[in-house]
Amino acid sequence: MFDLKGKTALVTGSTRGIGRAVAEELAKAGASVVVSGRVEERAQEVAREIAQKYGVKTLGVGMDVSDPQSVEEAFKKIHSEFEGIDILVNNAGITRDTLFLRMKLEDWRQVLEVNLTGTFLVTKQVVRYMTKKRWGRIINITSVVGFTGNVGQVNYATTKAGLVGFTKSLAKELAPRNVLVNAVAPGFIETEMTEVLKEEVKEQYKKQIPLGRFGKPEEVARVVLFLASPMADYVTGEVIHVNGGMY
Ligand code: NAD
Repeated sequence: MFDLKGKTALVTGSTRGIGRAVAEELAKAGASVVVSGRVEERAQEVAREIAQKYGVKTLGVGMDVSDPQSVEEAFKKIHSEFEGIDILVNNAGITRDTLFLRMKLEDWRQVLEVNLTGTFLVTKQVVRYMTKKRWGRIINITSVVGFTGNVGQVNYATTKAGLVGFTKSLAKELAPRNVLVNAVAPGFIETEMTEVLKEEVKEQYKKQIPLGRFGKPEEVARVVLFLASPMADYVTGEVIHVNGGMY
């Protein structure tokens, strides 16, 4: 059902959090996995752990998604080990939260560079191979705040809403070549990104979540696995929300 043997997946920002859970879920289904993060040694460490745990081929590469040269170099390494990428998960993302009145141009630019330009740069590297093969899956990790908005996150929510436009437009362009482009929109998930929130803020958020708790990275990863699998062969341009009912 979720057999991904023979496929190669790349997950950006997969040394921890949701990205790591996605890399593990895809490996569990039999895919070869490229783990990537800003620090190459860390990516290699995680890649080794995943290879040992699931018995699949893995590779760890250093890649700053916001830096075109870093992306190019990482792909040289990827292409020396694998023919190409069949499944791309654009997961790397950052926040620089502050009220709009205090938001500096740098806070705005950094978030756009990683969350949007990073997705553009990495996707550019995989599309030719996918269209040639007439099979490919691109899954973008957006966020519930791209739909609801959030105080202190004008920059971040803008990028997450932008990813929805990216997903839907690219889905239309690539559909004739059987390359599917979808997005997953997590709500509040227990990772280092949300760990920094104050306890009282977390409690406030929990009151808005019908399931009464934050989600776990694996609960997002399983939905990504669904979209990467043959179960989703007729799904493209879609956003799946994974948020415990809050939106
Ligand atoms: P995280 O901070 O634990 O993980 C983010 C990952 O991206 C890290 O591995 C980090 O090193 C990597 N990264 C950051 N900048 C990078 C860059 N320039 N190049 C390459 N990698 C980079 O956070 P997470 O919660 O696991 O977030 C993963 C994704 O899920 C993000 O896109 C985030 O916006 C999204 N998301 C998270 C939540 C949540 O509640 N945690 C909710 C909605 C969406």
